[in-house]
Amino acid sequence: MLRLVSAVLVSIGTRAAGYDYVVVGGGVAGSVVATRLAEKHSVLLLNIAGAPPSKYNSAVMVSDELIVQTNLTATPGMAARIHQPGYAPVPRFSTGETGSSPARWLGGSSVVGLSLFLYDKAMDWAPGWDWNTMQNYMLKSEIQPTHDPAYLHPLTRAFIKAVPGAMATPSSQRPDGTKITAHAAYLHKSSEKLKIMEGVRADRLIIENDVCTGVEVRDLKSGAYRTIRAGREVIVSAGYLYTPRLLFLSGLGDAKELAASGIPVVKDLPAVGKNLVAPRFTPVSWHTSEPTLSQMMGPPISKGPAVKEAFQSVMAEATVQLSKDAIAQFMPIYYAPKSAPLPYSLQGEAWPLSTNAYTVLVTMRTEAKGVIKIDKDPDVSPLIVHEPLTPRDRERGAAAVEAAVGMGSALPSLGPVEHTRDWSAVYDGRGTCRMGTNLSTSVVDTSLKVHGVRRLRIVDGSAIPSSTPFLALPEVVMLAERAADLIGGLQPYAVADMPDGASLWEVVQSAEVPPSDMAALSGPSSEEGLPVYIVMLLCAAVSLISGAVAWRFAPGRAPETSDHYTMA
Ligand SMILES: Cc1cc2nc3c(=O)[nH]c(=O)nc-3n(C[C@H](O)[C@H](O)[C@H](O)COP(=O)(O)OP(=O)(O)OC[C@H]3O[C@@H](n4cnc5c(N)ncnc54)[C@H](O)[C@@H]3O)c2cc1C
Repeated sequence: MLRLVSAVLVSIGTRAAGYDYVVVGGGVAGSVVATRLAEKHSVLLLNIAGAPPSKYNSAVMVSDELIVQTNLTATPGMAARIHQPGYAPVPRFSTGETGSSPARWLGGSSVVGLSLFLYDKAMDWAPGWDWNTMQNYMLKSEIQPTHDPAYLHPLTRAFIKAVPGAMATPSSQRPDGTKITAHAAYLHKSSEKLKIMEGVRADRLIIENDVCTGVEVRDLKSGAYRTIRAGREVIVSAGYLYTPRLLFLSGLGDAKELAASGIPVVKDLPAVGKNLVAPRFTPVSWHTSEPTLSQMMGPPISKGPAVKEAFQSVMAEATVQLSKDAIAQFMPIYYAPKSAPLPYSLQGEAWPLSTNAYTVLVTMRTEAKGVIKIDKDPDVSPLIVHEPLTPRDRERGAAAVEAAVGMGSALPSLGPVEHTRDWSAVYDGRGTCRMGTNLSTSVVDTSLKVHGVRRLRIVDGSAIPSSTPFLALPEVVMLAERAADLIGGLQPYAVADMPDGASLWEVVQSAEVPPSDMAALSGPSSEEGLPVYIVMLLCAAVSLISGAVAWRFAPGRAPETSDHYTMA
């Protein structure tokens, strides 16, 4: 009953604001959370750019090459500059400044991703965010892995045969090798309740008396600013770089840094933009006489004819788990350690590519972290600074490289490629607005609400507090799926706590909305809402009617059992 009354109150109070939820950023997390919330609520999704051009909806190798030329660097202030030891970007790509920046289209970095789909089932981010609960959300995900990749290079097949524990890398590809982006998996389902506004850059959150009431966006074509109000909540899903930046530009960050930048302090949150954790990787390569991917793309990339199936490669075609901190991945292509880690460009050579070598890429999580440095001008790109590895990282890294050398040597080769040993961290990141309970080391609580600011949540990779040796897409999807339940007031349940044979739907139906969520929901939701006395009168009337209805129709509707995240 309480739940019903509260829901009516909120809907009356918020209607005038236009949208219940405003989601900033239509990348992986934004696509998931906006789609799920729009099943019941009105949602406005704001993004830098619109749907990815259809030519990018293709095989991994083709789309990556096209995409790097018009990614986020095409938007002012959205090129990430990366500082780390030994790293030199390749100037001919638009990622020249960055190495590799996230994509700007709907679907976000899943549009430029390699489709590798690996994640750590030992996850334990915070109470309620362990695998016991999160596996429900992996089952619910609209992006699922295949363990049967569309293409494996002959060298990869040989590697899998020769190296114990090696397996084909699971990927989020269709059988024809095209990648499944978050745009294709989620946003294609048009919903009347979901409106997408593209071509806008959110530059400031509007925070009044510790309540976030909306967002100020810049129209990237006209340069004009406009204000958008949210009836219930603003959800920031702009990714691990741009989410902390939006908070910082809005006065949420380290008070000293804000003051030094001349931005008025709204809330001292020292962890904004800190604690960046990203897997680091280093390649070990061997010359080979077998044509590698770089020789199979056709002109102008390679001299020989194109081998059509090879475009379906996910590059890191096979994976071996070395420890809980490190993996080795087999790539039938050369990877120059000092260049941008994208197909073709990763060789760091002019076309047609000349080095013909295969690589075992070692990737590990590190103690070393990083920070994002943010300028007060939203047209100035953020700077990412990765700390050098700690002595313990180096020790573990050396052991992992030694294991990789043994694996790569198991194949016939023309000898190792000589190069320096640097550890790059360019693809991905987590933790820059991480969840936790300590106000000085975290930015959001375990409901993803920003500490000390009401009606503002963060739902994206920046909230994930710890790293893995894997890239983050599956974790981000799980986080966003669970966030949608949290925001909608559904209590997530650990799989172990569910009675045998019960569906999550059944368990959730008999749960109460937690009191903290109730308080957040019943707060003032719109400046343009109805006067309080009218709301109270309506509320009393609704209570009476709904009580009568509940009494008349008890025991109520039968539970739906078709949830596709019901545990077997
Ligand atoms: C080159 C590359 C390859 C990758 N390959 C893989 C892989 O193979 N497997 C894997 O698991 N992971 C991979 N990843 C990582 C994975 O894609 C990310 O972890 C995931 O996309 C993060 O999701 P997100 O929602 O946090 O951010 P994103 O997907 O980056 O989305 C952020 C969105 O916010 C928008 N935005 C940003 N700022 C604003 C603003 N101010 N206003 C409006 N909109 C804004 C952007 O346009 C973008 O659409 C890769 C990443 C990159 C960059």
